[in-house]
Amino acid sequence: MTRPPYLPAGALPPPAITDDARPFWEACRRHQLTVQRCTGCGAFRHLPSPVCWRCRGFAHEWMVVSGRGTVFSYAIVHRAFLPELAPAVPYNVVVVALDDAPGVRLVSNLVDADPSELRIGLAVEVCFEEMSDEITLPRFRVWRG
Ligand SMILES: [Zn+2]
Repeated sequence: MTRPPYLPAGALPPPAITDDARPFWEACRRHQLTVQRCTGCGAFRHLPSPVCWRCRGFAHEWMVVSGRGTVFSYAIVHRAFLPELAPAVPYNVVVVALDDAPGVRLVSNLVDADPSELRIGLAVEVCFEEMSDEITLPRFRVWRG
């Protein structure tokens, strides 16, 4: 079953894909959520970057993570900041802490939650939304076990 896009198609520009982030976006197209992990000290990092924030090492690997996490923070948007987003209000923006990548938090949207259902600590899991042939976005849905 294909869900309509959470936000209206074309309302937001596509993400700029840097060389550092390209493996992340390629994995999203395969419906895998990945996180960069330093092979020197083990620190996870997101957004992708060439240098480890902790040990300054360059060596890293891409870890496929489960996509399970919890809502670390959120906002419910009632006034669209772009006219193209007006049909979507109220929509949410969530910050998700990933269960198996300590310290990593992703900014995304929770696609299946009523605003009254949102709370910090809510268990969620990743799902994917095709924005175009090139871009697949990681979104989240409520973990319902
Ligand atoms: Zn490191």
